[in-house]
Amino acid sequence: QIRAENIHKRFGNLEVLKGVSLTVNKGEVVVIMGPSGSGKTTFIRCLNFLEEPDQGQVMVCNLDVACGLRVASRERSSKIRQLRVKAAMVFQSFNLYPHMTALGNVIEGPIQVLGMRRDEAVKSGEQLLAKVGLADKRDEHPSRLSGGQKQRVAIARALAMNPEVVLFDEPTSALDPELHEEVLQTMRQLAGDGMTMIVVTHEVKFAHEVADRVVFMADGVVVEEGLPQEILVNPQHPRTRSFLRLVD
Ligand code: ATP
Repeated sequence: QIRAENIHKRFGNLEVLKGVSLTVNKGEVVVIMGPSGSGKTTFIRCLNFLEEPDQGQVMVCNLDVACGLRVASRERSSKIRQLRVKAAMVFQSFNLYPHMTALGNVIEGPIQVLGMRRDEAVKSGEQLLAKVGLADKRDEHPSRLSGGQKQRVAIARALAMNPEVVLFDEPTSALDPELHEEVLQTMRQLAGDGMTMIVVTHEVKFAHEVADRVVFMADGVVVEEGLPQEILVNPQHPRTRSFLRLVD
């Protein structure tokens, strides 16, 4: 289970998150939607401390990290490192290592962070590349892959850490429209396998088909949340209604 309670974050004078709470159960797929600038990306970055929340509490599978403390204790830093292994992130812009092959990108974390033996990491990395349909791209560098292929390598890399939850930050928004489907298909498959997923996306159709719950954010707060058919078909809040009119 992942729980974020009362997360606050400001950048200078800009209060980006004004007390956001979210609980996600094991195996659940939660889609976060909302207008540009509403704080969606900042929120999921707070879940694995790529952004340090100013206030609140983050819990990922019994690892409980309080936020807003001024002193960085060694114990806290170690908890954050463990938490990052449990909550893997897939970025909008892939963030692959350009000097490594597809397989190199996938095995780096397991070897360096988990201390896995190289031959084991290679074996499981090859299986993961096959799972995302890229077995034949094992030895290619990112510059020779399409955007959709790069994102699928990034998904394989996230899975290689054997995470409890995968956090997706607008995984299709840097891709040409014709490449969205291959990435969404990989994500559907992952959801079908029972992976816990938190997905920031504007893909309404994907949210309809795959999400167990849709959370709508605006101006740094959760405006409403519920089943996809409630939020996407019959939204109660005017902000949700006007947003859905725009993206549809
Ligand atoms: P989008 O859909 O456009 O990605 P979003 O809802 O994900 O938007 P965020 O990326 O979380 O929104 O950004 C929320 C606000 O915080 C924006 O006004 C953004 O400019 C600001 N912001 C984000 N990161 C930083 C930062 N590191 N420093 C200063 N301001 C930031």
